[in-house]
Amino acid sequence: HAKHQGRNTWCCFAPHMLSDAADRLDIRNGLAQALQRDELLLYYQPQFDLASGRMIGVEALIRWQRPGHGLVSPARFIPVAEECGLIVPIGAWVLRTACRQMAEWRAAGAPHLVVAVNLSALQFGRGNLEQDVRAALEQAGLPAGWLELELTESILLQNPDQVLAIVQRLRKLGVSLSVDDFGTGYSSLAYLKQFAVDKLKIDQSFVRAIDAQPDDTAIVRAIVQMAHSLGLKTIAEGVENTAVLDLLGKLGCDEAQGYHYARPLPAAEALPFILAAQAQAEAQAQAQA
Ligand code: C2E
Ligand code: MG
Ligand code: MG
Ligand code: MG
Repeated sequence: HAKHQGRNTWCCFAPHMLSDAADRLDIRNGLAQALQRDELLLYYQPQFDLASGRMIGVEALIRWQRPGHGLVSPARFIPVAEECGLIVPIGAWVLRTACRQMAEWRAAGAPHLVVAVNLSALQFGRGNLEQDVRAALEQAGLPAGWLELELTESILLQNPDQVLAIVQRLRKLGVSLSVDDFGTGYSSLAYLKQFAVDKLKIDQSFVRAIDAQPDDTAIVRAIVQMAHSLGLKTIAEGVENTAVLDLLGKLGCDEAQGYHYARPLPAAEALPFILAAQAQAEAQAQAQA
């Protein structure tokens, strides 16, 4: 941070920064062993179609069960993993685990769902993302149509030619692609068209208080209209109540996820949730018939 703060370099030695650096080093050291020690795990947050009310997928969200520290949030350790390159093997583990888990649920009777996996920029640079995705699907025996990959706008912009080539190969495998945290970065319409993604995930900062903030309503309305005119779907993240959900429906948003429906669930709780959601949707469809 100090680099950006002009000539007052003394700030490098501020105690809070020392402890911040020590924190990061500690996280990095612990993370290096977390994979082998089997300390990483995935939670799954349900996603729903607004028009039909049906559950359509889950987003896989990583957690670190760190001895002596409890359940560590990805907001704390993913940035460190990105800094030191560990995100490449961790990202491959996430792909394998999410695909294997979804294949298990499929075998247990889950209807067609997608499991959405978050990707980091480094997975496009180093490592072999296409190979990791292909191997994860093959090892799990999961059809590619059950996997979605979440990219961020910054990934699309960092090295457009290289990323475009990889994205095109991923599309050929048959997985779907979404742009996460949409609206917080700088993607242009031209980019979205070129990358041929399937869906925009409207960032929760625009969704959270949409019922109270006219500006946010205008932003979400514009994103949905733009997405639809490009043939893309939209999903809103961070939906916490019915008022927000109703407004999103009026704005034409296609899908939603958030605490209103469910928090991210441990794997063991996800299958009962999936089966209950399916039963409820079927009962509703019958009542309407
Ligand atoms: P994200 O992909 O944008 O995920 C959405 C975050 O919002 C999740 O936090 C989720 O728990 C939270 N969330 C969902 N619904 C609500 C809601 O209604 N209200 C509020 N306040 N929050 C909600 P989480 O699980 O802590 O993940 C944070 C971020 O960590 C993710 O943001 C993603 O950028 C990153 N991340 C998580 N798992 C992975 C992973 O496997 N690989 C990579 N590269 N990044 C990951
Ligand atoms: Mg995400
Ligand atoms: Mg997001
Ligand atoms: Mg986010």
